Amino acid sequence: MNFDEIKQLDDLYGAETFSRYPVALVSGKGATLKDSEGKRYIDFGAGIGVNIFGVNDEEWKQAVIGQLNRIQHASNLYYAEPQARLMELLCKRTGAKRVFFANSGAEANECAFKAARKYSFSKYGGGRSKIISLNQSFHGRTLFTLTATGQDSFHRYFDPFVPNVVSVDANMESVRKEINGACAVVIEPIQGESGVTVLNKEFVRALESFCREKDVVLIVDEVQTGNGRTGKLYAYEHFGITPDIVTTAKGIAGGLPFGACLFFEKTEHTLSAGDHGSTFGGNPVCCAAAINVISRLTEELLLEVQGKSDYLRAKLRLTDGVKAVTGLGFMIGLETEKNAKEVANECLKRGLLVLTAHERLRLLPPLTITKNEMDEGLSVLKEVLK
Ligand SMILES: *Cc1c(COP(=O)(O)O)cnc(C)c1O
Repeated sequence: MNFDEIKQLDDLYGAETFSRYPVALVSGKGATLKDSEGKRYIDFGAGIGVNIFGVNDEEWKQAVIGQLNRIQHASNLYYAEPQARLMELLCKRTGAKRVFFANSGAEANECAFKAARKYSFSKYGGGRSKIISLNQSFHGRTLFTLTATGQDSFHRYFDPFVPNVVSVDANMESVRKEINGACAVVIEPIQGESGVTVLNKEFVRALESFCREKDVVLIVDEVQTGNGRTGKLYAYEHFGITPDIVTTAKGIAGGLPFGACLFFEKTEHTLSAGDHGSTFGGNPVCCAAAINVISRLTEELLLEVQGKSDYLRAKLRLTDGVKAVTGLGFMIGLETEKNAKEVANECLKRGLLVLTAHERLRLLPPLTITKNEMDEGLSVLKEVLK
Protein backbone atom coordinates (compact mmCIF):
# COMPACT_ATOMS: atom_id res chain seq x y z
CA MET A 1 0.00 0.00 0.00
CA ASN A 2 1.19 3.52 -0.59
CA PHE A 3 0.88 6.20 2.08
CA ASP A 4 -2.43 7.64 0.86
CA GLU A 5 -4.07 4.21 0.87
CA ILE A 6 -2.83 3.49 4.39
CA LYS A 7 -3.97 6.88 5.67
CA GLN A 8 -7.38 6.55 4.06
CA LEU A 9 -8.13 3.26 5.85
CA ASP A 10 -6.81 4.55 9.17
CA ASP A 11 -8.88 7.74 8.86
CA LEU A 12 -11.97 5.70 8.06
CA TYR A 13 -11.71 2.88 10.59
CA GLY A 14 -9.30 3.84 13.37
CA ALA A 15 -10.56 5.17 16.70
CA GLU A 16 -9.62 8.79 16.41
CA THR A 17 -7.21 8.76 19.35
CA PHE A 18 -3.96 9.72 17.61
CA SER A 19 -2.89 12.83 15.78
CA ARG A 20 -0.23 11.24 13.63
CA TYR A 21 2.62 12.59 11.54
CA PRO A 22 1.89 12.00 7.83
CA VAL A 23 4.32 9.08 7.51
CA ALA A 24 4.16 5.27 7.62
CA LEU A 25 7.51 3.73 8.60
CA VAL A 26 8.03 0.33 7.04
CA SER A 27 11.64 -0.83 7.39
CA GLY A 28 15.19 0.14 8.25
CA LYS A 29 18.47 -0.76 9.86
CA GLY A 30 19.74 0.63 13.15
CA ALA A 31 18.74 4.29 13.45
CA THR A 32 18.06 4.70 9.72
CA LEU A 33 14.47 4.12 8.69
CA LYS A 34 12.43 4.07 5.49
CA ASP A 35 8.82 5.04 4.93
CA SER A 36 6.21 3.56 2.57
CA GLU A 37 7.37 5.88 -0.23
CA GLY A 38 11.03 4.90 0.13
CA LYS A 39 12.06 8.13 1.87
CA ARG A 40 14.94 7.79 4.36
CA TYR A 41 14.98 9.09 7.96
CA ILE A 42 17.48 9.32 10.82
CA ASP A 43 15.70 8.17 13.96
CA PHE A 44 16.12 10.27 17.12
CA GLY A 45 12.93 8.85 18.64
CA ALA A 46 13.29 5.05 18.69
CA GLY A 47 9.51 4.60 18.65
CA ILE A 48 9.29 6.66 21.88
CA GLY A 49 12.29 5.05 23.51
CA VAL A 50 11.31 1.50 22.62
CA ASN A 51 13.69 0.35 19.88
CA ILE A 52 16.75 0.28 22.15
CA PHE A 53 18.94 -1.37 19.48
CA GLY A 54 17.23 0.37 16.56
CA VAL A 55 15.45 -1.78 13.98
CA ASN A 56 16.49 -5.01 12.35
CA ASP A 57 19.13 -5.82 14.97
CA GLU A 58 20.43 -9.28 14.04
CA GLU A 59 21.10 -10.65 17.52
CA TRP A 60 17.77 -9.42 18.88
CA LYS A 61 15.89 -10.88 15.91
CA GLN A 62 17.58 -14.26 16.38
CA ALA A 63 16.54 -14.29 20.06
CA VAL A 64 12.93 -13.55 19.10
CA ILE A 65 12.82 -16.00 16.20
CA GLY A 66 14.51 -18.68 18.29
CA GLN A 67 11.70 -18.46 20.84
CA LEU A 68 9.01 -18.29 18.11
CA ASN A 69 10.34 -21.58 16.80
CA ARG A 70 9.75 -23.18 20.22
CA ILE A 71 6.48 -21.87 21.69
CA GLN A 72 4.84 -18.45 21.37
CA HIS A 73 2.64 -18.56 24.48
CA ALA A 74 1.79 -21.04 27.20
CA SER A 75 0.03 -18.94 29.93
CA ASN A 76 0.97 -18.30 33.51
CA LEU A 77 -0.62 -21.59 34.55
CA TYR A 78 2.76 -23.13 33.77
CA TYR A 79 6.43 -22.44 34.39
CA ALA A 80 8.50 -20.94 31.57
CA GLU A 81 12.26 -20.92 31.15
CA PRO A 82 12.46 -17.47 29.44
CA GLN A 83 10.54 -15.95 32.38
CA ALA A 84 12.70 -17.66 34.98
CA ARG A 85 15.91 -16.56 33.26
CA LEU A 86 14.74 -12.97 32.86
CA MET A 87 13.62 -12.78 36.51
CA GLU A 88 17.06 -13.89 37.64
CA LEU A 89 18.81 -11.50 35.26
CA LEU A 90 16.79 -8.47 36.42
CA CYS A 91 17.23 -9.31 40.10
CA LYS A 92 20.97 -9.97 39.81
CA ARG A 93 21.54 -6.73 37.88
CA THR A 94 19.47 -4.49 40.19
CA GLY A 95 19.35 -6.05 43.64
CA ALA A 96 15.58 -6.50 43.32
CA LYS A 97 14.20 -9.63 44.99
CA ARG A 98 11.21 -10.55 42.84
CA VAL A 99 9.64 -9.57 39.53
CA PHE A 100 6.15 -9.43 38.03
CA PHE A 101 5.79 -9.22 34.25
CA ALA A 102 3.19 -7.07 32.49
CA ASN A 103 2.65 -5.89 28.92
CA SER A 104 3.07 -2.14 29.21
CA GLY A 105 4.18 0.71 31.41
CA ALA A 106 0.70 1.48 32.66
CA GLU A 107 0.21 -2.13 33.71
CA ALA A 108 3.57 -2.24 35.47
CA ASN A 109 2.53 0.87 37.43
CA GLU A 110 -0.93 -0.56 38.11
CA CYS A 111 0.78 -3.59 39.66
CA ALA A 112 3.05 -1.34 41.75
CA PHE A 113 0.11 0.71 43.07
CA LYS A 114 -1.87 -2.39 43.99
CA ALA A 115 1.17 -3.88 45.73
CA ALA A 116 1.76 -0.66 47.71
CA ARG A 117 -1.84 -0.64 48.92
CA LYS A 118 -1.62 -4.27 49.92
CA TYR A 119 1.72 -3.78 51.68
CA SER A 120 0.19 -1.09 53.82
CA PHE A 121 -3.12 -2.85 54.41
CA SER A 122 -1.46 -6.09 55.48
CA LYS A 123 0.74 -4.27 57.97
CA TYR A 124 -1.43 -1.42 59.25
CA GLY A 125 -5.02 -2.19 58.23
CA GLY A 126 -7.21 0.38 56.41
CA GLY A 127 -6.86 4.16 56.26
CA ARG A 128 -3.48 4.23 54.55
CA SER A 129 -4.39 3.84 50.90
CA LYS A 130 -3.19 7.20 49.57
CA ILE A 131 -0.79 7.26 46.62
CA ILE A 132 1.24 10.46 46.23
CA SER A 133 2.58 11.37 42.80
CA LEU A 134 4.25 14.52 41.50
CA ASN A 135 2.85 17.36 39.45
CA GLN A 136 3.89 17.18 35.79
CA SER A 137 4.26 13.41 36.04
CA PHE A 138 3.07 10.79 33.58
CA HIS A 139 2.27 7.26 34.69
CA GLY A 140 -0.04 5.81 32.02
CA ARG A 141 -3.55 5.71 30.57
CA THR A 142 -5.45 3.21 32.72
CA LEU A 143 -7.78 4.91 35.18
CA PHE A 144 -5.52 4.32 38.20
CA THR A 145 -2.33 5.43 36.44
CA LEU A 146 -4.14 8.33 34.78
CA THR A 147 -5.34 9.46 38.20
CA ALA A 148 -1.72 9.42 39.38
CA THR A 149 -0.63 11.40 36.32
CA GLY A 150 -0.16 14.90 37.73
CA GLN A 151 -1.38 16.86 34.71
CA ASP A 152 -4.95 18.16 34.56
CA SER A 153 -5.05 18.07 30.77
CA PHE A 154 -5.22 14.26 30.91
CA HIS A 155 -8.13 14.29 33.35
CA ARG A 156 -10.88 15.86 31.31
CA TYR A 157 -13.97 13.66 30.76
CA PHE A 158 -12.85 10.67 32.80
CA ASP A 159 -13.99 11.27 36.34
CA PRO A 160 -14.77 9.84 38.81
CA PHE A 161 -11.15 8.87 39.36
CA VAL A 162 -9.59 6.35 41.72
CA PRO A 163 -10.00 7.76 45.24
CA ASN A 164 -7.05 8.72 47.40
CA VAL A 165 -4.49 9.58 44.75
CA VAL A 166 -2.94 13.05 44.99
CA SER A 167 -0.27 14.94 43.07
CA VAL A 168 2.09 17.41 44.75
CA ASP A 169 5.01 19.65 43.78
CA ALA A 170 8.46 18.04 43.78
CA ASN A 171 9.65 19.27 47.17
CA MET A 172 9.71 17.74 50.65
CA GLU A 173 7.37 20.29 52.19
CA SER A 174 4.60 19.34 49.76
CA VAL A 175 5.17 15.62 50.27
CA ARG A 176 5.16 15.99 54.08
CA LYS A 177 1.78 17.75 53.98
CA GLU A 178 0.18 14.74 52.29
CA ILE A 179 2.02 11.89 53.99
CA ASN A 180 -0.68 11.06 56.54
CA GLY A 181 -2.67 8.13 55.23
CA ALA A 182 -0.21 7.47 52.41
CA CYS A 183 1.08 4.04 51.41
CA ALA A 184 3.27 5.10 48.48
CA VAL A 185 5.06 7.91 46.69
CA VAL A 186 5.70 7.46 42.97
CA ILE A 187 8.31 9.42 41.00
CA GLU A 188 9.88 9.44 37.56
CA PRO A 189 13.64 10.15 38.01
CA ILE A 190 13.35 12.24 34.85
CA GLN A 191 9.87 13.46 33.98
CA GLY A 192 9.76 12.48 30.33
CA GLU A 193 6.39 13.24 28.85
CA SER A 194 6.16 16.69 30.44
CA GLY A 195 9.52 17.98 29.15
CA VAL A 196 12.52 15.85 30.17
CA THR A 197 13.00 17.38 33.62
CA VAL A 198 15.51 15.70 35.93
CA LEU A 199 14.31 15.62 39.55
CA ASN A 200 16.51 17.41 42.07
CA LYS A 201 18.98 14.94 43.59
CA GLU A 202 18.71 16.25 47.16
CA PHE A 203 14.92 16.01 46.94
CA VAL A 204 15.04 12.41 45.71
CA ARG A 205 17.48 11.40 48.45
CA ALA A 206 15.48 13.16 51.17
CA LEU A 207 12.34 11.50 49.82
CA GLU A 208 13.98 8.08 50.03
CA SER A 209 14.86 8.47 53.72
CA PHE A 210 11.51 10.07 54.55
CA CYS A 211 9.65 7.15 52.92
CA ARG A 212 11.82 4.69 54.86
CA GLU A 213 11.12 6.54 58.12
CA LYS A 214 7.34 6.50 57.49
CA ASP A 215 7.34 2.96 56.04
CA VAL A 216 5.85 4.34 52.82
CA VAL A 217 6.63 2.48 49.59
CA LEU A 218 8.87 4.44 47.21
CA ILE A 219 7.93 3.54 43.64
CA VAL A 220 10.30 4.64 40.87
CA ASP A 221 8.63 4.73 37.46
CA GLU A 222 11.43 3.85 35.03
CA VAL A 223 9.15 3.08 32.12
CA GLN A 224 10.99 5.61 29.97
CA THR A 225 14.25 6.18 31.91
CA GLY A 226 15.09 2.50 32.34
CA ASN A 227 17.04 -0.09 30.38
CA GLY A 228 20.17 1.87 29.60
CA ARG A 229 18.42 4.98 28.35
CA THR A 230 20.29 7.39 30.67
CA GLY A 231 23.66 5.61 30.56
CA LYS A 232 22.86 3.53 33.66
CA LEU A 233 20.80 0.34 33.61
CA TYR A 234 18.16 2.18 35.66
CA ALA A 235 18.15 5.93 36.24
CA TYR A 236 17.64 5.74 40.03
CA GLU A 237 21.34 4.73 40.14
CA HIS A 238 22.23 8.37 39.28
CA PHE A 239 20.57 9.46 42.53
CA GLY A 240 22.23 6.93 44.86
CA ILE A 241 18.94 5.57 46.19
CA THR A 242 17.40 2.12 46.61
CA PRO A 243 13.70 2.11 45.66
CA ASP A 244 11.10 -0.28 47.09
CA ILE A 245 9.53 -0.90 43.67
CA VAL A 246 10.80 -0.11 40.17
CA THR A 247 8.51 -0.26 37.16
CA THR A 248 9.75 -0.37 33.60
CA ALA A 249 8.53 -1.02 30.06
CA LYS A 250 9.18 0.87 26.77
CA GLY A 251 12.72 -0.27 25.85
CA ILE A 252 12.93 -3.39 27.98
CA ALA A 253 12.12 -5.85 25.19
CA GLY A 254 13.63 -3.76 22.39
CA GLY A 255 10.36 -3.31 20.49
CA LEU A 256 7.91 -5.91 21.76
CA PRO A 257 5.15 -5.02 24.24
CA PHE A 258 6.44 -5.76 27.70
CA GLY A 259 6.59 -4.32 31.20
CA ALA A 260 8.06 -5.35 34.53
CA CYS A 261 7.47 -4.50 38.16
CA LEU A 262 10.55 -5.10 40.31
CA PHE A 263 10.06 -5.65 44.04
CA PHE A 264 12.93 -4.82 46.38
CA GLU A 265 13.34 -6.02 49.95
CA LYS A 266 10.43 -4.20 51.60
CA THR A 267 7.82 -5.43 49.12
CA GLU A 268 9.39 -8.80 48.35
CA HIS A 269 6.58 -10.89 49.84
CA THR A 270 3.71 -8.45 49.41
CA LEU A 271 1.82 -10.11 46.56
CA SER A 272 0.64 -13.69 46.90
CA ALA A 273 -1.22 -16.18 44.69
CA GLY A 274 -4.35 -14.67 43.17
CA ASP A 275 -3.57 -11.04 44.07
CA HIS A 276 -2.55 -10.05 40.58
CA GLY A 277 -2.12 -11.62 37.17
CA SER A 278 -2.00 -11.20 33.42
CA THR A 279 -2.82 -13.42 30.46
CA PHE A 280 0.01 -12.18 28.28
CA GLY A 281 2.37 -10.91 30.98
CA GLY A 282 5.71 -12.70 30.76
CA ASN A 283 5.02 -13.88 27.21
CA PRO A 284 7.99 -16.10 26.28
CA VAL A 285 8.76 -14.28 23.01
CA CYS A 286 8.83 -10.93 24.82
CA CYS A 287 10.94 -12.48 27.60
CA ALA A 288 13.43 -13.81 25.06
CA ALA A 289 13.65 -10.32 23.56
CA ALA A 290 14.12 -8.74 27.01
CA ILE A 291 16.83 -11.27 27.96
CA ASN A 292 18.69 -10.23 24.83
CA VAL A 293 18.28 -6.53 25.69
CA ILE A 294 19.20 -6.70 29.38
CA SER A 295 22.15 -9.06 28.91
CA ARG A 296 23.60 -6.79 26.22
CA LEU A 297 23.33 -3.66 28.41
CA THR A 298 26.79 -4.29 29.82
CA GLU A 299 28.92 -1.70 31.64
CA GLU A 300 30.81 -1.34 28.39
CA LEU A 301 27.71 -0.52 26.35
CA LEU A 302 26.44 1.85 29.05
CA LEU A 303 29.77 3.72 28.95
CA GLU A 304 29.41 3.92 25.19
CA VAL A 305 25.95 5.45 25.63
CA GLN A 306 27.39 8.04 28.03
CA GLY A 307 30.17 8.88 25.58
CA LYS A 308 27.82 9.22 22.61
CA SER A 309 25.31 11.27 24.58
CA ASP A 310 28.09 13.59 25.78
CA TYR A 311 29.03 14.11 22.13
CA LEU A 312 25.46 14.78 21.03
CA ARG A 313 24.77 17.09 23.99
CA ALA A 314 27.95 19.09 23.42
CA LYS A 315 27.01 19.65 19.76
CA LEU A 316 23.43 20.55 20.69
CA ARG A 317 24.57 23.14 23.24
CA LEU A 318 26.52 24.86 20.49
CA THR A 319 23.59 24.84 18.07
CA ASP A 320 21.97 28.18 17.24
CA GLY A 321 18.37 28.30 18.42
CA VAL A 322 18.92 25.92 21.36
CA LYS A 323 18.23 27.60 24.71
CA ALA A 324 18.80 24.65 27.03
CA VAL A 325 19.68 20.95 26.92
CA THR A 326 18.11 18.84 29.69
CA GLY A 327 17.90 15.20 30.77
CA LEU A 328 20.55 12.51 31.25
CA GLY A 329 22.30 10.23 28.78
CA PHE A 330 20.22 9.48 25.70
CA MET A 331 17.11 11.04 27.23
CA ILE A 332 17.53 14.57 25.94
CA GLY A 333 15.22 17.57 26.26
CA LEU A 334 15.78 20.64 24.10
CA GLU A 335 14.39 24.03 24.87
CA THR A 336 14.37 25.85 21.54
CA GLU A 337 13.65 29.36 20.33
CA LYS A 338 11.26 27.99 17.74
CA ASN A 339 8.05 26.14 18.58
CA ALA A 340 8.85 22.46 19.28
CA LYS A 341 5.95 21.02 17.29
CA GLU A 342 6.86 23.10 14.24
CA VAL A 343 10.49 22.04 14.56
CA ALA A 344 9.42 18.38 14.69
CA ASN A 345 7.31 18.80 11.54
CA GLU A 346 10.13 20.55 9.71
CA CYS A 347 12.66 17.87 10.78
CA LEU A 348 10.33 15.18 9.48
CA LYS A 349 10.18 16.83 6.06
CA ARG A 350 13.97 16.87 5.99
CA GLY A 351 14.37 13.24 7.04
CA LEU A 352 14.81 13.38 10.82
CA LEU A 353 12.43 11.89 13.41
CA VAL A 354 12.30 13.74 16.74
CA LEU A 355 9.77 13.73 19.58
CA THR A 356 8.22 16.55 21.53
CA ALA A 357 7.41 16.81 25.23
CA HIS A 358 5.15 19.76 25.94
CA GLU A 359 7.15 22.87 24.92
CA ARG A 360 10.39 20.98 24.40
CA LEU A 361 11.91 18.69 21.83
CA ARG A 362 12.66 15.23 23.18
CA LEU A 363 15.37 13.01 21.73
CA LEU A 364 15.49 9.30 22.60
CA PRO A 365 17.82 7.80 20.00
CA PRO A 366 18.49 4.06 19.80
CA LEU A 367 21.42 3.29 22.12
CA THR A 368 23.28 1.79 19.16
CA ILE A 369 23.05 4.88 16.95
CA THR A 370 26.30 5.50 15.05
CA LYS A 371 28.35 8.70 14.98
CA ASN A 372 27.48 9.17 11.30
CA GLU A 373 23.78 8.86 12.05
CA MET A 374 24.11 11.36 14.91
CA ASP A 375 25.98 13.81 12.67
CA GLU A 376 23.41 13.47 9.93
CA GLY A 377 20.58 14.13 12.40
CA LEU A 378 22.48 17.05 13.93
CA SER A 379 22.93 18.75 10.56
CA VAL A 380 19.16 18.60 9.95
CA LEU A 381 18.49 20.00 13.43
CA LYS A 382 20.98 22.80 12.81
CA GLU A 383 19.26 23.88 9.62
CA VAL A 384 15.80 23.73 11.17
CA LEU A 385 16.62 25.46 14.47
CA LYS A 386 18.60 28.45 13.19
C1 LIG B 1 5.23 5.78 28.50
C2 LIG B 1 5.15 5.88 29.97
C3 LIG B 1 4.17 5.20 30.72
C4 LIG B 1 3.07 4.41 30.06
O1 LIG B 1 3.56 3.30 29.37
P1 LIG B 1 2.60 2.49 28.37
O2 LIG B 1 3.46 1.35 27.91
O3 LIG B 1 2.22 3.44 27.28
O4 LIG B 1 1.43 2.06 29.16
C5 LIG B 1 4.22 5.28 32.10
N1 LIG B 1 5.17 5.99 32.72
C6 LIG B 1 6.13 6.67 32.04
C7 LIG B 1 7.17 7.42 32.80
C8 LIG B 1 6.15 6.65 30.65
O5 LIG B 1 7.08 7.34 29.97
